[in-house]
Amino acid sequence: MNFDPAEIEKIVREVIQQTRSQVVTASPTPLSSVRPEIRSTSQPSAIPIRARAAVLVEKKRLELKEFPLRKIRENEILVRVEGCGICGTDIHCFNNDPFKLCPVVLGHEGTGEVIEVGSAIHMDSVGKPVRPGDKIVTSVLETSEACMVAKYNPAKANLCDDLRIYGLLPDESDNHFNGYFGEYLIIRPGSSFFVVNDMSLDLRMLIEPAAVAAHALERAKKTGLINFRSRVIVQGCGPIGLMMIAIIRTAGVNNIIAIDGNTDRLAIARQMGADYTINFRDYPDRQGLVEAVNAVTKGMGAHFAFQVTGVPAAASTIWKLVRRGGGICELGFFVDGGECSINPHEDICKKEIMLVGSWAYNSWEYPNAYHFLQRAARIGIPVEKLITHRFPLDQIAEAFQTNLRLEGIKIVVENPNFRSVSS
Ligand SMILES: [Zn+2]
Repeated sequence: MNFDPAEIEKIVREVIQQTRSQVVTASPTPLSSVRPEIRSTSQPSAIPIRARAAVLVEKKRLELKEFPLRKIRENEILVRVEGCGICGTDIHCFNNDPFKLCPVVLGHEGTGEVIEVGSAIHMDSVGKPVRPGDKIVTSVLETSEACMVAKYNPAKANLCDDLRIYGLLPDESDNHFNGYFGEYLIIRPGSSFFVVNDMSLDLRMLIEPAAVAAHALERAKKTGLINFRSRVIVQGCGPIGLMMIAIIRTAGVNNIIAIDGNTDRLAIARQMGADYTINFRDYPDRQGLVEAVNAVTKGMGAHFAFQVTGVPAAASTIWKLVRRGGGICELGFFVDGGECSINPHEDICKKEIMLVGSWAYNSWEYPNAYHFLQRAARIGIPVEKLITHRFPLDQIAEAFQTNLRLEGIKIVVENPNFRSVSS
């Protein structure tokens, strides 16, 4: 007997649909009173009435709380979270709550599986059909109507003063599932979201930092200084710096010089595609570092450098490592780390330096990041090795502490209750 795969998929979807409608619509009474907390494991598509999320209740205090999971509206999507990376921004929120968001469910480097799709939604942001069982990632939400930058220069929507991202949204009285450090996420109207069924969980958790790197590369390309023969420095080998190395290698840059003070990170920099690694701690002063860079740049300094630390001293030094006619992309200071000194004569004027800043990304850069990650996998750059630690949601506090101790590279938090609708 021959089965048409499309037919089998249709039958499976119908069964899933029937099971779900039995579960969800069988209780017309208020959500909180009837449905059991977790449905039997034989019904992975079942939607619980309550679910957990990690709330940053105040600075330095994360609490795992259980909330009612409300029904989605016609223009929303319910996602069961699989996992989410911890970002430097999350740590900044944890320490200082700079955006005054507490209480907040953090987590923007996340991904999960579509459990329920509102009746008004049929496609993702690039026109792919979206259905229960699809693996999904989200980018920024539509920017504020009031923002003149976003309105008159949509290509610069990343500079909107009200750039909104899941995991950095204010809490709402009827929906606490606004960030990926929870078991569920409700995708709201106006969001950019992408069906990425052909990506591994690890790569899906890395697509957000990959988009940051993709945007920085686009900015750097504006200088005309990034090409096959460019000698390019990446200063700072944290998650974004390492991602930067992987993307410029994938984009064809052949001479990449990684600079950091941590030998483990420099070893990973090599795996991401760095040709030379320089530990600045090996040099007693700045001049020593300049000479180390000159030794691998024909005595002239780099054509281009990405500054990916948040350290003012490093931001001062980088100007000395770039040759005359070179360029710099500053993307390390995503928070205000203070000021740094430069010599306008020596560093900028005399060298005719091309400087670009890079801030976050636009939603359309997600497809770009997707293609980068797929290409990197094909040419053997093990980007997923950036994930060094995994914690279940129950241990999110320990995950944050590990990050605060500067251990590992990318630390991810995974939902221990995740079950695929197709399992
Ligand atoms: Zn981030």
